[in-house]
Amino acid sequence: MPAFLELARQDPVNRPIPERVCDFKEISEQLSLYELIGQASRCMDCGIPFCHSFGCPLVNRIPDWNDMLCRGKWKQALRLLHATNNFPEFTGRICPATCEAACTLAVDYGAVTIRRIELELVERGWREGWIKPLLPVATSGFRIGVIGSGPGGLAAAQEMARRGHEVIVFEKSEEPGGILRYGIPDFKLEKWVLDRRLEQLKGEGIIFETGVEAGMDLSGRYLSRSFDAIVIAAGAGIPRDLPLPGRLLPGIHFAMDYLSHQNRLNSGELTRPDSTLSASGKNVVVLGGGDTGSDCVGTARRQGAESIVQIEIMDRPPDHRSSTNPWPSWPNIFRTTTSHEEGCERLWSVQVRNFIGPPTGVEKIDAVKLDWSSKSGNNSSGLREVPDSNFELPADLIIIAAGFTHTESGSLVQEMELELNKDGNIKVDSSFAASRAGVFAAGDCVSGASLVVHAIDQGRRCARAVDNYLTPG
Ligand SMILES: Cc1cc2nc3c(=O)[nH]c(=O)nc-3n(C[C@H](O)[C@H](O)[C@H](O)COP(=O)(O)OP(=O)(O)OC[C@H]3O[C@@H](n4cnc5c(N)ncnc54)[C@H](O)[C@@H]3O)c2cc1C
Ligand code: SF4
Repeated sequence: MPAFLELARQDPVNRPIPERVCDFKEISEQLSLYELIGQASRCMDCGIPFCHSFGCPLVNRIPDWNDMLCRGKWKQALRLLHATNNFPEFTGRICPATCEAACTLAVDYGAVTIRRIELELVERGWREGWIKPLLPVATSGFRIGVIGSGPGGLAAAQEMARRGHEVIVFEKSEEPGGILRYGIPDFKLEKWVLDRRLEQLKGEGIIFETGVEAGMDLSGRYLSRSFDAIVIAAGAGIPRDLPLPGRLLPGIHFAMDYLSHQNRLNSGELTRPDSTLSASGKNVVVLGGGDTGSDCVGTARRQGAESIVQIEIMDRPPDHRSSTNPWPSWPNIFRTTTSHEEGCERLWSVQVRNFIGPPTGVEKIDAVKLDWSSKSGNNSSGLREVPDSNFELPADLIIIAAGFTHTESGSLVQEMELELNKDGNIKVDSSFAASRAGVFAAGDCVSGASLVVHAIDQGRRCARAVDNYLTPG
C-alpha cells in the first residue's frame, strides 16, 4: 500500500511558546531519522511532479531525493540537492515552500514535508562533514565584482568562483548576508547558519570586502576598469512609506530599521540598545499584514511588548482556496505564523488615517474600517470607509512593514547610467545583462522585493550568463 495512505503528514514540533519567546533562538525541533524517512516515503513519485517542475523556482529534484533517502543514499541525495540549490539550509528554514502547495498530495492528503526533508538532508551533510569547499579544476583569469551579499549575490558569486573566475563581493554593511543577516530574525534563521556557509564560500576563494559601498567608496569607473564583469545584487531596499499626518513623530520606524537593530544586538555588532527601537513595555502597532510584519510581531513579543496589534489594509483572505485559485498554484489563503501564535491581535480591512501624539512621540493612531465588498470609494484614497467605524488605538511604537518600492537608484546606478524598468528596478534582458556592457544584475534589485529562493535562482542563472559572456561558444 502506498505510504501516504498509511502515514499522515507530520510537521516538526515547535518549542513551547512560553519557552521560545524568552530567547531569539530557532523555534522548531528536528524530526527523528525514523520520522523523516517515513515522511520521504509518502512521496508518490508522480509522473509529472508538479513540486519540482512547477512549484520550486530552483527546480529542485524533489521526488529523486525522496527516493534516495528512502534507500539510505544520503550522500547521493545531498549531491542532487546541491546541484540545483546552493543554500538548502536557508530555503529549508525560511522558504514558503511553494513546492508543497504544488505537491499532488496537497489536494487531499497533506503535502509531503518537502522543506523539512530538504533541511534535514543538508544539516546531516554539515554534521557528517560532507560539505566542503569545491575548488575549480582551472582558473579562467577573469575577475568579477559582485555588488551586494544577499542570497542573490552569494549564489552568483559561488557559481562563478566554481567556474574558475576570481570573485570579489562588495558589501556596504559590516557583515555579508543581506536580509538573511540583518532582516530575517534569528528565531527563523540563526546567523551561525549563514556564517557556516560563508566559510565554504571563502574556502572556494571568494573575497568579501565589507563596509564598502559601491558608487560611494568605489566609483563605477573604478569597478568597470578593475573587473571583466560586474554583477549587481543590491536588493530592493527602499521601504514603502505611509506619508500620513503625524508621520514624523518620534516612535515611528520602518520594519528593516527595527529588525536589523535587534539582529545587530543579538550578534554583538551593537552593544548598546537604542530604547526608541525597543518594544519593551510598549503598545506596538505593526502596519502591514505580510511576513515582514509577522517578523516584527515575533520580535516585539520577545522584547516584552505590552500589546501588539498588526493591521492590514486588505481584506482577510479566505480560509480555503477560491475557485479562481486552484491547485497547483500558490494558495492565497489566511495564514497564521508562529509569531502570530505567540500572541497578537490582527485587524483586517483597516486604514490608518493619522498618527497622533505630542512632539515628544506618537501615542495613538486614528483608523477606520474599510468595506472591500463595494468598489466605489468614498475617501481620498479611493477606498470605501464603513460609516462611523473610525477608532483609535494606543501606540507608542509604530512599525511600518508596508513592503519595499524598488532598489536604491543611488550613485552607482546613476554613474553607470543603468536603465531602470517601470518599477524603478534595474532593467535587464533575458541574460540578466543590464543596459551597460559587462554589467549584470540579479535578485530583488531586478524583480523587486521577493523571496530568498528567487534570489538564489536568479543569482545562479546570472552566473551562467556572465560565464557565457566571458567565454562565449
Ligand atoms: C524582514 C524580511 C523578512 C523576510 N523573510 C523572508 C522569508 O522568510 N523567506 C523568504 O524567502 N524571503 C524572505 N524575505 C525576502 C528575502 O529576504 C529577499 O527576497 C532576499 O534577501 C533578496 O536577496 P537579494 O540578494 O536580492 O538582496 P538582499 O538580501 O537585499 O541583499 C542586498 C545586499 O546588497 C547590499 N548593497 C546594496 N547596495 C550596495 C552598494 N551600493 N554597495 C555594496 N553593497 C550594497 C545591501 O547592503 C544588502 O546586503 C524577507 C525580507 C525581509 C525584508
Ligand atoms: S527551495 Fe523552497 S520551493 Fe524549492 S524545494 Fe526547497 S522549500 Fe520547496
